[in-house]
Parts: sequence; structure tokens; C-alpha cells
Amino acid sequence: MKTLKHIRRLLAILFFLPILLFFIDFTGLLPLFLHKLLQMQWIPALMSVQVGVVGFLLVLSLLFGRLYCSVICPLGVFQDIAAWKSRWFKKKGRRYRFDYRKPNNILRYSLLALTVIVFLLGSSAVVVWLDPYSIFGRIITQLLRPLFIWANNGFSALFIKKGIYVIYGVSQNAFVVIPFIITSVFFVIVAVMSWFRGRLYCNTVCPVGTFLGLLSKLSLFKIEIEKSSCTQCSACEKRCKSQCIDSMAMTVDETRCVSCFNCLSVCKKGGVKYAFRYGKKQEAAPVSEINSSRRTFMLTSGAVVAALATAKAETLTGKKDEILSRKPIMPPGAGHLEHFNTKCTGCQLCVSKCPMHVLKPAALEYGISGIMQPRLAFSTHVYCNQDCTICSEVCPTGALTKLTVEEKRVTQMGIARFRKHKCVVYTDEKDCGACSEHCPTQAVHMIPYKNGLTIPQVTPDLCIGCGGCESICPVRPYQAIYVEGNSVQVKAKKPKDAQKFEKKIDNFGF
Ligand code: SF4
Ligand code: SF4
Ligand code: SF4
Repeated sequence: MKTLKHIRRLLAILFFLPILLFFIDFTGLLPLFLHKLLQMQWIPALMSVQVGVVGFLLVLSLLFGRLYCSVICPLGVFQDIAAWKSRWFKKKGRRYRFDYRKPNNILRYSLLALTVIVFLLGSSAVVVWLDPYSIFGRIITQLLRPLFIWANNGFSALFIKKGIYVIYGVSQNAFVVIPFIITSVFFVIVAVMSWFRGRLYCNTVCPVGTFLGLLSKLSLFKIEIEKSSCTQCSACEKRCKSQCIDSMAMTVDETRCVSCFNCLSVCKKGGVKYAFRYGKKQEAAPVSEINSSRRTFMLTSGAVVAALATAKAETLTGKKDEILSRKPIMPPGAGHLEHFNTKCTGCQLCVSKCPMHVLKPAALEYGISGIMQPRLAFSTHVYCNQDCTICSEVCPTGALTKLTVEEKRVTQMGIARFRKHKCVVYTDEKDCGACSEHCPTQAVHMIPYKNGLTIPQVTPDLCIGCGGCESICPVRPYQAIYVEGNSVQVKAKKPKDAQKFEKKIDNFGF
């Protein structure tokens, strides 16, 4: 019976490691096709209407129960790792210390219903917060990946001092205060829950887990206790990280069992079996009241949302420059704002894969429901390369439609706004034109001003909102030219003599 557990562990490693490394990889070494593993996650598969994948996951669950939770879901494996690590801090005799707990049906079914209803009403607000794959993606992108980048940059600086140029420094693009705080709160909640209570998150909060639990009632193969062999020693119950085995009643709550098979090998009497059980009835465990740890979770989440609302109000009242209240710029391929906000789960895969480091998780730019969704944020030499389509290629939920390079070159994500009163040509009567030099589409060009000087002018139809101009404008802190995001990405006009005008933006400037 240990074989099943070993196979499950091997498969879990085969899914988990590539996903983890794909999110961490800041060098672009790993092949992009690894994003296919992310399309096998339940929510991305549903969002992008991957009929084949959804069919496969349904069949998998109807055959083997919640194997998805033990093998494919990276947040599930993350919780197993946390629960496993917690054993190192326990005395020898108390390492396997789980005991049966009643399910929190009110909470879990309410959260599932809320997720479905809000989504059907056209908002992914709840999905963004609760999708397990996206929570995992954010934890890695916001908390773990920066540590690797810091270590890389430290070694890079050390090597350069010694004249060795084998690695190079990389910028930390993903750090934004509000998403960082929210991600940290979720990380602590999930880690603490799994540290003390195994798969508590999976069985009370996760809407995917609750949905799969319902499917598992119909699954062909299930864990069950053979009443004739069981001596009620509770060895299996102590090992069950889902806390769903009641050894006294000799029942297994199939809706919470994640098919990890840990219980199979511990029973010396062969009392726990994983076998064909379709149609067999088991006693249902009674409903319990919502306990204090879950109440704490809900209160914490509520407090975070309230804090965010206050932060938004403060930001708005304290604004000093129109650039601060501009419309956010969606990544290329997002199409309509409504489509993007509904489909994007804020997993931040695009943020971690963007080679230009121009994507950042949003704070409140899209409103409360769009927290964590990516937006373009330009800074010195950081702009969107018109020839890069990586974010649209890796997005697993269909929030970004895959673009060809030709399509990308004319996808208008926003339009540059020129503010003459801030431009150095106007304020200092000095020659400049950096924005025009850096515009890859001829959308900014220089026109005569006075005393032989020239000043920029924008042709909106040609602008694609790449931010080349904004990223190089020397006026600080608020540039004289900046990009206002489009709510609907449209096709920009091709520049005249486009072939001759294939400009590569370099690092010229100030
Ligand atoms: S219950 Fe949710 S978080 Fe837990 S393993 Fe399943 S899908 Fe992942
Ligand atoms: S747009 Fe980015 S953050 Fe949103 S689902 Fe796609 S990859 Fe994830
Ligand atoms: S945003 Fe890009 S395309 Fe538009 S004016 Fe600036 S540099 Fe040109």
C-alpha cells in the first residue's frame, strides 16, 4: 500500500517543481512551454475554456477523488510541505498528531456559492482572492522570487568587484506595497493553518477543494475503513492531514479526503482500503459551528479590505499631479478592461516572466476587485518592448489573448499625453527630444517651437502606449509625457514607411 503513496509523491514533485522554478526563473532560462502545466489548474482551465483539460480533471476526480489536490495543485503541495516541516519541531511521539474534526460546511459551501455567484455576475473579485493556483503564484512572485533576485544581485556585485562577469544584476519589479501586504497575510494564514491543521485551508476556504469534494462523493475509488479489521487504534486518524477520518465511528469524510494515501500504510491490520466503492453509503459527519480560527480568517480578510479602502481614499485626496490619477495600462492582449478584470486571477505569472520588468501587480488602480492584476508601470529605461509577446503567451486563464509580433506592434494599450508646461523645452528653453528619439512608431515627433528649438507633438493614432517616451523623459518626479491607459485596446495605425522605421529603443538619455 506504500506504493500508492510513493506514486502520489513522485507525481506531486513532477508537477510542483517545474511550476515553482518557472515562477522563480528570473533569467528566462526555462522554456515557455512549461506554462502548459499551469493550464492544467482548475480555475485557469475553466477561465480559458480548455474543454479537454476540464474533461480530464473531471474524469480524474470521478475516478480517484481529490487526487488533483494532492498532485496537481501547487498550493496543496505547499501546504503538505508546511505540515511536513512542522513535524521537525515536534517531539518524537507527537509527530503524527492530527485528530478528526467535524467539517465546516456552512463556511465552505458559502464560499463556493459566493465565488460562483459573483463570477456569474461578471466579476472575478472572489476568484482573484481564493483561487489556490493564483495564491501560490503570488506567494512565489512576491515573497520567494525577490529573495533569489537579491541573492543573485549580491553575488553579481561581489563577482564584478573581482572582475568576474558570469552573472548580472536583475531589477526587483514585482514589489508594490499593497499586493505585498495582502500576499504576506495570505501566506501566513495558509502556512499557519497547514502547520497546525494540515489541509484546513483546503477543506474550509478553497472553492476548488469544496467543488472537488462534492464530485468525490461520486468517485469510483475511495478510502474506506473495513469494520471487520479495524481495532479503532486511531493510527490512521493521527496521520490524516485532512482530519477527515473518524476512527471511533469508522468513517472517512470523502468530501475532505485529498487522496494522499498516507493512512493506507499505517494500519497494521489492513483496516484502511482504497478500492472500488461506488454506491456504498457511509455515515455523514455532522455539521459544526464555524470555529474561531475561521472567524479570525474572515475578520482578518475584512480588516484588510477596510484598510485598503481607506488607503485608496487617502491616495486620492493626497494626489498632486494628473499622472497619479491616470487610467491603468493593461498588458498587451487584454482587450477590454471588463474582459481582463473578469478573466485575470492575478496569478502574476506574466509579472514574473516579463523580460522588460515593466509589469507590476496593481494596488488599487483597477479598483478593489482588480488588486493584484498586472498593469504596465514605466520607470527609467523600463518600457514595453514592441517585439515582445511573452505575457500574452504564458497567461493560463485567457485574460491575455496570444498576440503575434505583428499584432503586438499595432496594439494600442494606451496613448501618450504631452504636457507642454512641464517639458524642459518650455520651462528651461533647452533642447531635448528624448521622447521622440525613443518612440518606435513615430507617434512623437518634434515640431518648431521658438529660437530654433523644437518641441514634441503626439499623433495619438500612431501611439501604442509602449512607454518608451515616458521612460526616458528627464522631467522628474512627474514626466512631461506619460501614457494614459485605454479601457479598450484598439489597433493603432502603422507608421508611414514602417519598414524603414523599425526602431530599437536603446538606453540613450539622461
Ligand atoms: S483544496 Fe484547493 S488549495 Fe487544497 S489542494 Fe485542493 S485545490 Fe488546492
Ligand atoms: S494576466 Fe497575468 S496575472 Fe492575470 S491570469 Fe494572466 S498571467 Fe495571471
Ligand atoms: S507611448 Fe510609445 S508609441 Fe506612444 S508616443 Fe510614447 S514612445 Fe511613442
